[in-house]
Amino acid sequence: MAYKSDIEIARAANKKPIQEVGDKLGIPGEHLLPYGHDKAKVSQAYIDSVQKNKNGKLILVTAINPTPAGEGKTTTTVGLGDGLNAIGKKAMVCIREASLGPNFGMKGGAAGGGYAQVVPMEDMNLHFTGDFHAITSAHSLLSAMIDNHIYWGNELDIDIRRVVWRRVVDMNDRALRQITASLGGVANGFPNESGFDITVASEVMAILCLAKNLKDLEERLGAMIVAYRRDRSPVFCRDIEAQGAMTVLLKDAMQPNLVQTLENNPAFVHGGPFANIAHGCNSVTATTTALKIAEFVVTEAGFGADLGAEKFMNIKCRKAGLAPDCVVLVATVRAMKMNGGVAKGDLGAENVDAVKEGCANLGRHIANLKSFGVPVVVAINHFVNDTDAEVQAVKDYVKAQGSEAILSRHWELGSEGSADLARRVAEVAESGESNFKPIYPDEMPLFQKIETIAKNIYHADAVVADSKIRDQLKQWEEAGYGNLPICMAKTQYSFTTDPSRRGAPTGHSVPIREVRLSAGAGFVVVVCGEIMTMPGLPRTPAAQSIRLNDGGEIEGLF
Ligand code: ADP
Ligand code: MG
Repeated sequence: MAYKSDIEIARAANKKPIQEVGDKLGIPGEHLLPYGHDKAKVSQAYIDSVQKNKNGKLILVTAINPTPAGEGKTTTTVGLGDGLNAIGKKAMVCIREASLGPNFGMKGGAAGGGYAQVVPMEDMNLHFTGDFHAITSAHSLLSAMIDNHIYWGNELDIDIRRVVWRRVVDMNDRALRQITASLGGVANGFPNESGFDITVASEVMAILCLAKNLKDLEERLGAMIVAYRRDRSPVFCRDIEAQGAMTVLLKDAMQPNLVQTLENNPAFVHGGPFANIAHGCNSVTATTTALKIAEFVVTEAGFGADLGAEKFMNIKCRKAGLAPDCVVLVATVRAMKMNGGVAKGDLGAENVDAVKEGCANLGRHIANLKSFGVPVVVAINHFVNDTDAEVQAVKDYVKAQGSEAILSRHWELGSEGSADLARRVAEVAESGESNFKPIYPDEMPLFQKIETIAKNIYHADAVVADSKIRDQLKQWEEAGYGNLPICMAKTQYSFTTDPSRRGAPTGHSVPIREVRLSAGAGFVVVVCGEIMTMPGLPRTPAAQSIRLNDGGEIEGLF
């Protein structure tokens, strides 16, 4: 049997006008700001008006360590949302917007897959409602204002060798990673080194996703460190007086975007910070608003649970006062096999022993998640070639860990395939079993926080950092940043800092390469290993096969 591509399924969707989708949530027409017929922003006035409502149940979807076999977190998030609606619950999905650049590099959209997708997927993967363009503009305004300040006399005494505010563009362009700016003579300023990151790596993105409201946004933007003086004292965005104008540029981007699933259920698609140097979750505004207007909110965190869920809990939930009622841990038979040593080309053949072998990775994630006090349900995201014996092996393993695994076939069947998962998740979320708490308190010293994550989540023996890094952390504590949470930036492929170590390794240590302060977003980034903030394009970029067909439809976008 031939299966349709994601874009073919999305194009055939029977979309409802966005107002009808808003009606399901009780959002009055005047509070939906339409962007065409199938997308709308929700007005700030409406968001303010629902603040007194009771919160619905919050469900986090996370996954085992990713493998090239693909896990399907977004697909499962959307499938579970539809499943909950199908069993009569008022549920909504909250996911991230897509970064435009990577869509032209390697295949892989951000709208889910198969019969569990959010539409319009083409828009979502391209310009959408312009939020990321607004972020690029706000970021660029600050870049320009810093150079301009220096040009007109540098009253703040910025050391032009220590401008840490870089530039951003939403494109995979490795040529821009490191640049020399302001060349060409006196009129163009003082030559300096700079470089570009991709837009989603901007601290402005992280701030937009964590800010509670526009006032909070402006304050956080002002608190960003943009440069240092010769005496190493920080220069803030507010010293440049850019935060007001930046907030103006971001005013509309702060409002969540309402779209629909293939089954016409509501979804917020809003924000999309990097999951390494930032926290990798959709916006706090979208999640907290959704909780006020739906009974169940299903949301996703980037990467595997060691990074994504850890940051969701320790950063997003802590800052926004949220507590998940149930965590859904996505696993696939294919990924278990890869964790059990099977090569990607051999995934087609049944191999129950490899599945069993690979389950150690799953087991550690289950235990880790439980240490946050949250109940865990494992969702086996079904691929059509998985055999019954392989699925049973995962179920048996999970049962032996004191949890349960439920097979879900949303990719193939939509809500019909995810109803069992939805029933169980609803039951667990409603049970009041969850007793969530972050795994470290605000007042714990920064280095100890890093150790807590490394030991309790990665199961490492030690954190290795030279005195320069420890001194830096101490300085930040003295400057009043000691209460911030930690944002780990390490490989997503392993519990260790070595991407090739699958399964559940022990006996490893976590070397810290660098620490960075995101003073506006409000976390300390701990970089372990090579972290790329400006991706490149592959030898044969997807862009080569993306085009408009004679009917004006987009081809090649997955
Ligand atoms: P993640 O959010 O974990 O990165 P996605 O949900 O975006 O993963 O899925 C990645 C890709 O895998 C998508 O192209 C999707 O269509 C595909 N995929 C997900 N689940 C399945 C499945 N059960 N069967 C086949 N393909 C799937
Ligand atoms: Mg995803």
